[in-house]
Amino acid sequence: MKEKIERAILGIECPKCGHDCLYKLDDGRYKCSNCKFKYSPRKLNDDLQILHYFSLEIPANKARKDFGCSYDKAGRKYMQYRNEIFLYLQKEFNKLSGEIECDESYFGGKRKGARGRGAQGKVTVFGMLERNGKIYTTLVDNVSAETLMNEIIQHAEKGSVFYTDKFRSYKSLKFFGKHITVDHGNYFANGKRHINGLVPINRDWSFAKERFLSCQRQIHWKIP
Ligand SMILES: [Zn+2]
Repeated sequence: MKEKIERAILGIECPKCGHDCLYKLDDGRYKCSNCKFKYSPRKLNDDLQILHYFSLEIPANKARKDFGCSYDKAGRKYMQYRNEIFLYLQKEFNKLSGEIECDESYFGGKRKGARGRGAQGKVTVFGMLERNGKIYTTLVDNVSAETLMNEIIQHAEKGSVFYTDKFRSYKSLKFFGKHITVDHGNYFANGKRHINGLVPINRDWSFAKERFLSCQRQIHWKIP
């Protein structure tokens, strides 16, 4: 696919029909003599560069600085890619099953208490990580048992094995599946992957916020 786009940028091959009879118009665009499709190789090149930056998770404003396109354009493209990924994953998303780790994490605000639970002005993210690598995360308004259990019931299969810490909101998990409480500090020691150690929960806030805002509060993705 990338080679195909590069050939189109060089004016070797039509990106639409693949024909090799292109001619250059006065305004710099190419026109295909077969299907009459017109395109700007510069624009196509910009798009390819932006997509490359996006795939490397380089922020949009860095992309803009590096190749001088407008921030609007880089930002718009990033938003478009995220929405497309979101829609794709939403379609593909099945409930998590098997062994699942659940945890919440907090961004912003002043940290109060050992884990920051109940602190004012914080944005709370609830996340679930399936053993095979599928993740579900969402912003939640609070960490009440009702809120968290609703998320779990909607996004995990009944009868799964749930690992959580001893936080009281997880108490009724035993009615929904097998509930195992663990000390989060031991996750790594056990060779298990802790959800807090994974994107987006433990990345910087701007990274996560940008994604949450562009993805209607939810992110579903698979760890590569
Ligand atoms: Zn063509």
